[in-house]
Amino acid sequence: MNLLGQLLEAVKPSPTLAITRQAAEMRRSGIDVIGLSQGEPDFPTPPHICEAAKAAIDQGQTRYTDVDGTPELKAAIARKFERENGLTYTPQEISVGSGGKQVLFNALLATLNPGDEVIIPAPYWVSYPDMVRMAGGVPVELLCGEDQGFKLDAAQLAAAITPRTKWLILNSPGNPTGAGYDASELLALGAELLRHPHVYVLTDDMYEHLRYDGWRFATIAQVLPALKARTLTVNGVSKAYAMTGWRIGYAGGPRHLIAAMATIQSQSTSNPCAIAQAAALAALDGPIDFLVERNEIFRDRRDLCLDAFNATPGLSCRTPQGAFYLFPSCSDLVGATTTQGRRLENDNDIGRYFLDEAKVAVVPGSAFGAEGFFRISFATATERLEQACERVMRACARLN
Ligand code: PLP
Repeated sequence: MNLLGQLLEAVKPSPTLAITRQAAEMRRSGIDVIGLSQGEPDFPTPPHICEAAKAAIDQGQTRYTDVDGTPELKAAIARKFERENGLTYTPQEISVGSGGKQVLFNALLATLNPGDEVIIPAPYWVSYPDMVRMAGGVPVELLCGEDQGFKLDAAQLAAAITPRTKWLILNSPGNPTGAGYDASELLALGAELLRHPHVYVLTDDMYEHLRYDGWRFATIAQVLPALKARTLTVNGVSKAYAMTGWRIGYAGGPRHLIAAMATIQSQSTSNPCAIAQAAALAALDGPIDFLVERNEIFRDRRDLCLDAFNATPGLSCRTPQGAFYLFPSCSDLVGATTTQGRRLENDNDIGRYFLDEAKVAVVPGSAFGAEGFFRISFATATERLEQACERVMRACARLN
C-alpha cells in the first residue's frame, strides 16, 4: 500500500527551498556559493520588536490566545489598515495566522470546492498554484509578459472569468518581478470585477513597505470600496519588519470569510505563537523610520544588480517598483553552449549553469510560471551581490 496520499500528486515542494537547500549542501562541502534564491531580508528584526517579545515572556504571555489573534493585536492591525490604507475593519473582520502563508491557505481551504477556479497572474509567487490545488481548486494561470510590465490587464481578466471562478489573486509589489500596480491599474481591473459579483479578490500586499523611486502603493479595496465586501486584504510583518522567523501574517476581509478561516485554523494550528503576536503588535504600532534607511540600501543594491545584468550580453532586466527581487530575462542565452559543449536548453539549465559555473544560486523563471527568466533576491549583503554579479557576468561571457 502506498503511504502517501493523492494530495501529494498535485503538489510540488517549493522550488526556492529546494535550490536554497542545494546551495547550502554545496556550502557545507566547502564551496563558496552565493545564495540569491531566498526571499528574506538580511537585516535583523529591529530591537524594539525583540524587546516587546522578551517583555511578553516576562509577563507570562505564554498561553493559548484567541484562535485568530489577540484582541490587542487585532486592534493594532485595524489601526494599521486605517492609517496606511484608509480601510476600516472591525476585529471580527481581521484574522491573524502563522505567517501570510497560513492566512492565504486558510482562505483557500475555507472557500474552494472541487473544480473551483482561481485566476493567478503569472509570473506568480510559487506557492499560489499549489495551495489552490491542495484546497481542491484549479489554478488558472494567465501569463503577463514583460511587454505588459508583468501585470494583468482588464481584457485578459475579462477573458479568463468563468462561472467557476472564485478568486482572483493579486500580488503587488509582486514576487518574483517586483512589479507594482498603480491605483489606476487596480481601478481598471476592479471595474471588470464589478461586472462579476461571484468573483472574490485575494490581494497579497506582503511587500507593501518595500518600494522605490517614489512609487505609490495602493490596494484594491481602498481604490474601489465597492469591492471591499469581497476582498481579502492579506499582509504580514515578515518582509517589512524583517520578521520572517516569527511567523505572523494577517488579513482583513468580510466577516463570514474571516469566521470560516478561524474555523479551519482552530482545527489545525490554533493560535499563532503568543509571543510573536506581542512582537507583531510592537512592530505595527512602533516607529517605521528604519524602513526608509533600509529601503535606500535595498534600492542601491537593486540598482547595482540592474546595471550589472543590463550590461551583460544575453541578459536584460526591467526596473521593479518594489519588493527585493529582480526577474531578468535570460531567453537570449537559450541555445548557447558551455565550454564543455553542453547546450543550455531552457532557464532550468541556465540556473543550473549559474550554480555549477558561477557558484551563484538563482531560481529559474519556470518555477514562477514564466520561462526564459530567473529570479534573484537582492536582500543580500552588497559586497556579496557585487561578487555574484561579477561571477554571473563572467559565466555568461564564457558561453558560446
Ligand atoms: N506572499 C508572498 C508574495 C511572499 O513572497 C511570501 C513569502 O515569501 C509570503 C506571502 C509569505 O509570507 P510569510 O513568511 O508571512 O508566510
